Amino acid sequence: MFRLDGKVAIVTGGSRGIGRSCAEALAGQGATVVINYVRGADEAQKTVAAIEAKGGRAEAVAFDVSDMTATEAAVADIAKRHGRLDALVANAGIAHDNLVLRVKEEELDRLFAVNVKGSIAAAKASIKVMMRAKTGRIVMLSSIVGEMGNAGQTAYAATKAALLGVTKSLAREYASRNITVNAVAPGFIDTDMTTQIAGDMKDAMLKSIPLGRTGRAEEVAACVAFLCSDEASYVTGEVLRVNGGMLMG
Ligand code: NAP
Repeated sequence: MFRLDGKVAIVTGGSRGIGRSCAEALAGQGATVVINYVRGADEAQKTVAAIEAKGGRAEAVAFDVSDMTATEAAVADIAKRHGRLDALVANAGIAHDNLVLRVKEEELDRLFAVNVKGSIAAAKASIKVMMRAKTGRIVMLSSIVGEMGNAGQTAYAATKAALLGVTKSLAREYASRNITVNAVAPGFIDTDMTTQIAGDMKDAMLKSIPLGRTGRAEEVAACVAFLCSDEASYVTGEVLRVNGGMLMG
């Protein structure tokens, strides 16, 4: 089940955290994985090495997803070199928490540039390749915060909510080409992004998680791998919540 042998996948922001786990999960199922990063060359190489040590295939490619021209060129080049592109995991993202009264225009611009424009740019370039093959899988990393909101995360929440609209629009636009587009909405997952959250806020959050613990990046990655597989062929425009029960329904 869920084998990805012979397939090629790009994971944006695959050098660390959830993206790294997604890259490892996809490679573990047989895919050749292209790991994108922007600054963390060492971390990206560590991810490649971890995959290769298990007999998998991976390479690291640097580009800033907020640069649409660079992203489109990089995705086109990856597809050309590998002769195909089966899956895109649009995972690259940043968080910048602030009360709205303190939010600066530059923060808003950067959050939207990376989280929204970057995901659309990677999807646009991938769809160009997938349309020719009449098949493809795109998974967007949204967040529980995009659905629930969170005090102190207005700008971040806006970008993650935007990705739900992007997911559903693309799912409708490219269903006829057999390209599925889904979102995964993680809850509170242990990564570099969440280590900055203050202890008291963390304790309050833990109390609101029925499973009583934070999630692991591998637990998100397993869901992403499923959505990238042939077995997920009839799932599109869906939001898969991976949040320990923190938000249901
Ligand atoms: P993370 O540990 O901070 O890793 C972020 C990744 O994104 C890194 O690989 C980073 O690359 C890359 N990146 C950042 N800006 C980029 C850019 N401009 N171009 C290309 N790559 C860029 O984050 P994470 O916690 O794994 O989160 C991954 C995704 O899941 C994000 O979209 C996040 O919003 C979402 N999410 C996370 C949680 C959570 O609890 N952790 C919950 C819900 C949703 P470098 O190493 O080069 O900096």
